[in-house]
Amino acid sequence: MQMTFDIPVVREVDVLVIGGGCAGLAAAVSAARHGAKVLIADANNALGGMATSGLVGPFMTCYDPMATRQVIKGIFDETVRRMIAKGGAIAPENVKSGTPPTAWRVKGHDNCTPFSHEAFKVVADEMCAEAGVEVLYHALFMAPRMNAAGDTIEGAVFATKMGMIEIRAKQFIDCTGDGDVAYRSGVPCQYGDEAGKTQPGSLFFIIRNVDKAKLEKICEEKGPAALYFQADVEREIEEGRYSVPRNKVALYENPDGTFRVNMSRVELKDGCDPFELSAATAKGRAQVEEIMDLLRRLVPGCEKIELVSTATLLGLRETRRIQGDFVLTGEDILGKTKFDDVIFLAGSSMDMHGGRAVNYTPAQGEAYSVPYRILLPKKVCNLLVAGRSASLDRRALAAIRVMPPVFAMGQAAGTAAAICIEDGVAPKDVCIAKLHEKLLSDNVVLA
Ligand SMILES: Cc1cc2nc3c(=O)[nH]c(=O)nc-3n(C[C@H](O)[C@H](O)[C@H](O)COP(=O)(O)OP(=O)(O)OC[C@H]3O[C@@H](n4cnc5c(N)ncnc54)[C@H](O)[C@@H]3O)c2cc1C
Repeated sequence: MQMTFDIPVVREVDVLVIGGGCAGLAAAVSAARHGAKVLIADANNALGGMATSGLVGPFMTCYDPMATRQVIKGIFDETVRRMIAKGGAIAPENVKSGTPPTAWRVKGHDNCTPFSHEAFKVVADEMCAEAGVEVLYHALFMAPRMNAAGDTIEGAVFATKMGMIEIRAKQFIDCTGDGDVAYRSGVPCQYGDEAGKTQPGSLFFIIRNVDKAKLEKICEEKGPAALYFQADVEREIEEGRYSVPRNKVALYENPDGTFRVNMSRVELKDGCDPFELSAATAKGRAQVEEIMDLLRRLVPGCEKIELVSTATLLGLRETRRIQGDFVLTGEDILGKTKFDDVIFLAGSSMDMHGGRAVNYTPAQGEAYSVPYRILLPKKVCNLLVAGRSASLDRRALAAIRVMPPVFAMGQAAGTAAAICIEDGVAPKDVCIAKLHEKLLSDNVVLA
């Protein structure tokens, strides 16, 4: 979609980051720290995306699959340490599976990082201000202004309280999670599986007044799986007393003693359709009432729970994925393919929700590597795409859609964009040795 009428150009920057989730934050801060003039725009009123407006947490593991070495550091780790200093996070080295911050889950939850979404918002604002990143909230990206050849983005049009505005830039980074910029610039995208089906979404919420001692006692008596109450929930569903199609009880303790609840489930045909998204959000909120009721009735320690807040953003695990010349696959992850253009290592397992759900765990041992080329879309020369909509197949997405890898993708994209500005090259021509040098000096683990 091209806009054809007069729209004021309000800023000209080197790098425009669109979407301010974990990927966008890391991209903007790293591009600015490497000398670029950066603006980050988001439709909401806070950075963090799912981590703040979506109330999603904890950060899944930043360690290798053996839980022996932290492999995701860089801006992710800096954000965490800054939150810890404000009392808003617990260090990943101090978190073990089978404990309240991991919802007493026993597999794959060592070294998660519980955090407060409010601490995240403040730290993100501070990091942007210190790096000299201009932050534009309440700005919904609508359309790109392309060059005549249709292969370069010249400006991005946003809907704001001022009406429509345009921001020009030399390099663009799409961190919308839905690949909005890429899609509207003509980059081929995939949506879900071959039939267009995606993983279901969930609306997170936060509760207080959990009697943790009582809950802990149940876990001690019945084993860590006690919190799942699968059979009880299934019976409730069968008897028509409960309509949420998900049988796991999942309560994650936050640093302030509240718990975040990841139990709702909504199916969407198209998470980018605003009407469907609205209906699904309302459905998620209605489920919260049912889930609260279920927890009060079934789960010892939850009898007196109260609702603190539901998420502003419905959590969508999957929408569009861009097509690059290269697509990272689940096989690459399981086979631990080594890439010359590695931008980070990760150890998170493939967590595929809904449908034929299969939770793959990368073979124990070393972390897998993720290459720079997943950030490069087909067709548009001056665009990088970081986060949930990078060039991945569904199983690779299921592994690296969690927040620590998403931070790492953003950091690499921002660093690469700054190199593009410095060297006058396109993202596909970035010198990988130079990218590696900068990432290493910024505490990113590459080997
Ligand atoms: C239900 C659910 C549970 C999850 N559980 C966990 C978990 O426990 N631990 C974990 O580590 N990960 C978890 N994840 C994964 C993780 O939260 C996300 O995949 C990750 O945060 C995505 O980051 P992102 O930066 O790519 O996108 P997002 O966080 O979605 O950020 C995108 C940002 O772009 C903005 N935006 C979007 N479109 C536009 C536009 N057109 N114009 C302007 N701004 C726009 C949004 O407002 C948002 O701020 C979960 C995800 C879901 C959905």
